[in-house]
Amino acid sequence: TMAHSKALLVLENFIGGKFVPCSSYIDSYNPSTGDVYCKVPDSGKEEVEAAVKAAKDAFPIWSSKSPLERSQILNKLADLIEHDLEAFAQAESKDQGKTITFARTVDIPRAVHNFRFFASSILHHVTECTEMPSMGCMHYTSRAPVGVAGLISPWNLPLYLLTWKIAPAIACGNTVVAKPSEMTSVTAWMMCKLLEKAGVPPGVVNIVFGTGAKAGEALVCHPDVPLISFTGSTLTAQRITEKSAPHCKRLSLELGGKNPAIIFDDADLSQCIPTTVRSSFANQGEICLCTSRIFVQRGIYNEFLKRFVAEAKKWKTGNPSDPTVNIGALISKEHLQKVRNYVKKAQAEGARILCGEGVDPLALPPGNQKGYFMLPTVITEVKDESCCMQEEIFGPVTCVVAFDTEEEVIKRANGVKYGLAATVWSGNVGRVHRVAHRLQSGLVWTNCWLVRDLNLPFGGMKASGIGREGAKDSYEFFTEVKTITIKH
Ligand code: NAD
Repeated sequence: TMAHSKALLVLENFIGGKFVPCSSYIDSYNPSTGDVYCKVPDSGKEEVEAAVKAAKDAFPIWSSKSPLERSQILNKLADLIEHDLEAFAQAESKDQGKTITFARTVDIPRAVHNFRFFASSILHHVTECTEMPSMGCMHYTSRAPVGVAGLISPWNLPLYLLTWKIAPAIACGNTVVAKPSEMTSVTAWMMCKLLEKAGVPPGVVNIVFGTGAKAGEALVCHPDVPLISFTGSTLTAQRITEKSAPHCKRLSLELGGKNPAIIFDDADLSQCIPTTVRSSFANQGEICLCTSRIFVQRGIYNEFLKRFVAEAKKWKTGNPSDPTVNIGALISKEHLQKVRNYVKKAQAEGARILCGEGVDPLALPPGNQKGYFMLPTVITEVKDESCCMQEEIFGPVTCVVAFDTEEEVIKRANGVKYGLAATVWSGNVGRVHRVAHRLQSGLVWTNCWLVRDLNLPFGGMKASGIGREGAKDSYEFFTEVKTITIKH
């Protein structure tokens, strides 16, 4: 309709400090209404080529600035995003479907913090030096930015995860070409409008919008992009590994998870239950760190299940801009269908659905009838081998099963291809350490969830990824080290 097309937001690529229109566009949906509301550039080889050229041209000047100069620019950018926090949060909620509350309190504050954090941490790295008196030699290391970094990010935490890559990459002196998810491009585009004011020179940050198959792959295959930092699914990571292999690119891969929560009979359930509901359903369950397999020790199993389901039922699903809503819309119609199908498959296999999908009525406000909503869903009586216990669902669905012994639960928790994040609940400190050491998981939270210190490594084992990110790890990834020997 006319009214419709008038209101469409049209994004442009940001190349060499300028907004550049594209010859073709992709429709982007508002997940909470099902309407197309935005046009995203459908970039390909040509656009990526222009962006890489701009980034290459900007590299000599940017890489020769002092860490302090770069730090000041990053801090300025953080201030500017923070100043517009509400506008960014509104945009993220509309574009992604997440609740305004989550965007306001998690996504955008973290994007601001990413720039502040790396603005600070870049000032504190030291290189190494060793001496070899018998040879009359000393050795030291020097680190330099690598060049043009290719950054590819997913749709679940759009600006949060994109800035988690842009901040360390440019803090270290690289220039970047970034490609956000074609489903959530708006906040990246909004950030581009602030770069000049922050003092980021043209060409240091270039953003090319479009699909993974076209724009993403062109970036991965570009011979002048020696390093790719990717967050997304394991399947895409395999493709990126294959496509980048002829160039021997440096890869950082942050991938999916099938994260267990292990709840022993001495756990403080008053803490554990609300936190495990949150770890299962926060951001519609669309966080790589979300819990999706809950192992509960037999003695407290029935009590846990009763209280857990009661707590899950309190979570309100509906219009993301309503501040009382806990669960917004899922990212797309296709994704909603995929998540629902997992619940159907579980049912067909004989599992029981205790609440949510297919069990409870979902009442939506009139404007949200065509949105991609789903109630928080709890599945039980499900076998460890079933697809709901093995595959990443990435929606508001969690499975609860019973276990008897520590030895048994460690084996079962490790019995998936993934290894990203685990939580352990117990009042026994010895057990907590023992179990944490034996879990195949890049992150283990005990008696809490999602408490992060950005100084420490973040990343997954097994099919959950390669490499780590964090203060020191990102610095190492985004710089090339050289060992220099001096004879005196
Ligand atoms: P995805 O793999 O489909 O897409 C991620 C990004 O890669 C998008 O920008 C996409 O356009 C691009 N892409 C797709 N195909 C490509 C190709 N052939 N070449 C280059 N780029 C390509 O993932 P998604 O569905 O957007 O995100 C959800 C996934 O991300 C989940 O598996 C989730 O667990 C994972 N994730 C992991 C972390 C982590 O830190 N470990 C964080 C968030 C999300």
